[in-house]
Amino acid sequence: MKPSLPAIARSFHEIGRDFHTRGWVLGTSGNFSTVVSRKPLKLVITASAVSKGAIRPADVLLVGADGRAIGRSTGKPSAETALHLAVARTRQAGAVLHTHSVWSTMLSERSGDQGGLRLSGFEMLKGLEGVRTHQHTEWVPILGNDQDIPSLARRAETMLQQSPEVHGFLLRGHGLYTWGDDLAQARRHVEIFEFLLETVGRMQSSVPLT
Ligand SMILES: [Zn+2]
Repeated sequence: MKPSLPAIARSFHEIGRDFHTRGWVLGTSGNFSTVVSRKPLKLVITASAVSKGAIRPADVLLVGADGRAIGRSTGKPSAETALHLAVARTRQAGAVLHTHSVWSTMLSERSGDQGGLRLSGFEMLKGLEGVRTHQHTEWVPILGNDQDIPSLARRAETMLQQSPEVHGFLLRGHGLYTWGDDLAQARRHVEIFEFLLETVGRMQSSVPLT
């Protein structure tokens, strides 16, 4: 049985508090969703302009495949709902998590002209679903940021169809999108990517060891 709206709100609250403490969803940045119906596609997603460090039951809502709220007259779905729907559709994801960390912002700017960045040789890569060895190379695509979310979602959907092996992507100067079969797996992927991005960022910016 799928969890109820209050149960999902409690899970989002716990994830939000944790991510906020780590500096990954400061202000009202970031958004979280989980799929509650595949056919027709329905998500529970955080509402727009909600502090992710203190998500309340009223801060989550149910949306349909068109991104509109179902059965509710107050509150607005996250501005980035179309991106969550694009990931849920193309990846058959059960949950999608989006963060705005310092390292994802910096590295997406630094590698933006290359269209992505490579993560390779790190033991922590094995935290990504299906990866069995540190010798794996994970390509993390970087899409140019855009305030036109439907257009951004279309670009994300095309990229995800062309790159079925990726576990996440970056929006330039903006943040990380990753997903999983469920919230626990998506959360693990956020932790893995944020760890790896910080590691690479610190390695690139530190004085070479002698
Ligand atoms: Zn965002």
